[in-house]
Amino acid sequence: TLRPLLAGNWKMNGTRASLSVVSALRDAVAAGRMRGVDTVVCPPATLVMAAADLCAGSSLMIGGQDCDSQPAGASTGDVSAEMLKDAGAAAVIVGHSERRNLHGESDAVVRAKAEAAARAGLLAIICVGESRAERDGGETLRVIGRQIDESVPPAATARTVALAYEPVWAIGTGLTPEATDIAEVHGFLRRRLQALIGGEGGGVRLLYGGSVKPDNAGEVWGVENVDGLLVGGASLKEEDFLAIAAAR
Ligand code: 13P
Repeated sequence: TLRPLLAGNWKMNGTRASLSVVSALRDAVAAGRMRGVDTVVCPPATLVMAAADLCAGSSLMIGGQDCDSQPAGASTGDVSAEMLKDAGAAAVIVGHSERRNLHGESDAVVRAKAEAAARAGLLAIICVGESRAERDGGETLRVIGRQIDESVPPAATARTVALAYEPVWAIGTGLTPEATDIAEVHGFLRRRLQALIGGEGGGVRLLYGGSVKPDNAGEVWGVENVDGLLVGGASLKEEDFLAIAAAR
């Protein structure tokens, strides 16, 4: 089994005051409460540098929530992977459904961002997942297959990429797929990745995300081919995030 990865995505939430959550998680890691789990917190870009400074010397990693594909240039409002690295980040989420849907990011854009992350030395957490309509139409595996084929870089390795399955209808809704459905999709992710990048695909961590809470985390951790969790709302409170880690 792969070393699990627990990732928190704060989305557009958090001010300086929220850095106390980062300090609390850092101290929990130091106290051995995250033993055996790689942990990354992805605050909004405004907090990445301060959060990373707080975690200097800690194994608690800080990540971005998005990056541009270019290293620098005339792209007002954007932040590059190199800038996140310089700010102390170790990872970046790319292709989250909120980026795909609210900002029109295509698979090709997501792949370019994942390649930028690798170029900058960041772990790219690439997100895929079907909408409610796609699930109801029986399109889940076809959609996810296309997203994998077109948004995972062909040169991806277990060290440069993790893949997160986030069914769009499960994000922020309190709804989660049945464990058997997660197992089916994660088995598919594994096979499709191996078809795309060969043996390296066996080492890429596969995360589940979508309404993971302390009371359902144990069941999701137990699903075959679930090597990690990508947590939104419940990552904003240190006690919930720690409980999700402890549920493993
Ligand atoms: P919630 O855990 O709030 O459903 O969000 C999931 C998510 O989108 C994480 O990236």
